[in-house]
Amino acid sequence: MQKEKIVILGSGPAGLTAALYTARANFEPLVISGNQLGGQVSITYEVENYPGFPQGTTGPELVELMQKQAEKFGARILIDEVTEVALLGGQPFRVKTHGDEFEAEAVVVCTGASPKRLGVPGEEALIGRGVSFCATCDGFFFRGKEVVVVGGGDSALEEGLFLTRFANQVRVVHRRDELRAGETLKKRALGNEKMSFIWDTVVEEIQGNGKVEGVRLRNLKTGKEERLGTDGVFIYVGHFPNSDLFRGQLTMDDRGYLIADKQMMTSVPGVFAAGEIQDPVYRQVTTSVGQGAAAGMMVERWLEARG
Ligand code: NAP
Repeated sequence: MQKEKIVILGSGPAGLTAALYTARANFEPLVISGNQLGGQVSITYEVENYPGFPQGTTGPELVELMQKQAEKFGARILIDEVTEVALLGGQPFRVKTHGDEFEAEAVVVCTGASPKRLGVPGEEALIGRGVSFCATCDGFFFRGKEVVVVGGGDSALEEGLFLTRFANQVRVVHRRDELRAGETLKKRALGNEKMSFIWDTVVEEIQGNGKVEGVRLRNLKTGKEERLGTDGVFIYVGHFPNSDLFRGQLTMDDRGYLIADKQMMTSVPGVFAAGEIQDPVYRQVTTSVGQGAAAGMMVERWLEARG
């Protein structure tokens, strides 16, 4: 059993910022990466709304810089996934990964959120065979092809626009006739000649034998069904918090988001939370960074007050 002062669960912008703050306060925090080093932003191609980068930057670049900065001050990053936690008994908190077991005086939960699935026939079986949740990762394979993007939010449009670099045609299937996305992306997507929109429509089934060949669509206003041939289906219908590990231990809302107070403390003293695991509203790199900084400062104060 390895003894640690502060263990940070998750290596997205919230986790890496909590690591930077606690490292600069000499706590040598241990960050357990989770299954995606850098979290969701590491698979986002363009980031245009992170202050300090007037030309924009990329998700992987931003994450690499954040990681380097935290490590420069003494944060350590372990590439592993947390499999079990014991938080209810108070200090020392216990954290198990596939390969190790830790005791920690304080824990910062930054496990983020993951993309939601549609839950339609064909989706699960065709993941990696034309069904994708990550245009940045898979867009390249669709050069010269036709793809469907599902959703009407910022992610659907941002990733759909990215896909126009490769695909000949990007059809956005949205369940309403109004986009949820912000004005800038909306304008760009509606003005892109490779993008088209299928309104008031849901995907009922993803079809294909070993690879995606088409989707069955249903118009919610008319009830009419049609088959649309496509090579790929990119799904952007929101996220769910990665909070299963904490069920029964930390207080969460009915969607599974952790409840943290203004000091970023969860229902268990000494366990803090930052980023999308406790934020269903803002969900930006900038806000996650701010919450990670707040959690880092508060965990420092909490540990110092206990001597
Ligand atoms: P989101 O805003 O929750 O949008 C999800 C979209 O999927 C909505 O259009 C929703 O339709 C649709 N949807 C949900 N469930 C569905 C289902 N079962 N079948 C079909 N469609 C379904 O999620 P997001 O786009 O991932 O964005 C999440 C947050 O990150 C937002 O706050 C967003 O602003 C932020 N974000 C920002 C940027 C940026 O600033 N550049 C980029 C990406 C994400 P309805 O509209 O009808 O609800």
